[in-house]
Amino acid sequence: MTTIDDLPVRADLRGRSPYGAPQLDVAVRLNTNENSYPVPDAVVDAIGKAVQAELRDLNRYPDRDAVALRTDLADYLGHGLTAANVWAANGSNEVQQQLLQAFAGPGRSALGFGPSYSMHPLLAAGTGTRWIGALRDADFGLTPFSAVEQITRHAPDLVFLCSPNNPTGTALDPAVVDAVLRAAPGMVVVDEAYAEFARAGTTSALSALPRHPRLVVTRTMSKAFGFAGGRLGYLAADPAVVDAVQLVRLPYHLSALTQAAARAALAQREALLSTVDAIKEQRDRIVDTLRSRGVRVAESDANFVLFEVGGDQHVAWQRLLDRGVLVRDVGLAGWLRVTAGTESETDAFLGALL
Ligand code: PMP
Repeated sequence: MTTIDDLPVRADLRGRSPYGAPQLDVAVRLNTNENSYPVPDAVVDAIGKAVQAELRDLNRYPDRDAVALRTDLADYLGHGLTAANVWAANGSNEVQQQLLQAFAGPGRSALGFGPSYSMHPLLAAGTGTRWIGALRDADFGLTPFSAVEQITRHAPDLVFLCSPNNPTGTALDPAVVDAVLRAAPGMVVVDEAYAEFARAGTTSALSALPRHPRLVVTRTMSKAFGFAGGRLGYLAADPAVVDAVQLVRLPYHLSALTQAAARAALAQREALLSTVDAIKEQRDRIVDTLRSRGVRVAESDANFVLFEVGGDQHVAWQRLLDRGVLVRDVGLAGWLRVTAGTESETDAFLGALL
């Protein structure tokens, strides 16, 4: 049998593993931070009609620049943004890959503060970008001092920040973003995949955009919108950044069906985003319940909670799985991450854990 090692694969990819959250057939799946609520019937109908209207024209390529969709996304974001500030692709992973292709790549470097989203280093590897694994503090926080010191030491071409941070859950203090923007010699990408779940008092980096042409904020419809299967991520930045990613995007990368479905979903945003409050309630319930039982948890502004298991996290992960609850082992010794979903999913998780 031929294996990958028999093929002339790039030397820098040899021995690596693909991104792979287990997709197991378990009753309670709380491992990929999806929105647990199915798409409501009214939204299903609206998306169905929008997709249907595209079908006869599938002989033609879609709008390469997805202008109507970008206009709708800018309208959703507010902050005085227009279509010229916004770019969209098949998930925010693709947006981030395009950013690395345009601003990093061979001979250049990207830096992120771990523990953070595991795809950032994988996207760097795929684009031939040297990865610099900087660190968050022991309590998973990140201070302006520590961030600036590590960036100054490494002078990366691109910095990833993640706010709220996956897997720890906490949103960044805007002072950190400001300090990083001042210290970084290159692009600063703030991954805000979970922004809609943030607690009151947090600030999106969107508000810093007018002052910083090297700042990029990435967002997604995969989480709060419950549109993970639709694959739609986007960025907001200076229009020059949008010009730059257009140099590397594949022509017609966003299908006509994706553009139509995403626009229909955005038009129904009130119905889709109505689940956010219920999810935040379950998140806070998980945090409060675990704390009341003496379990250490990280502060969360997202739709998941990182909690300490008091021992080997593999053993704890398997124990939960044996009880029908799939959570995520993010490779952080002694900790596991659980997605906040419906009330009954929280019941099942807490029942299995405690
Ligand atoms: N950023 C972060 C921090 C994430 O956790 C995820 C999803 N796990 C993504 C980006 C990617 O989401 P998508 O490609 O579905 O937009």
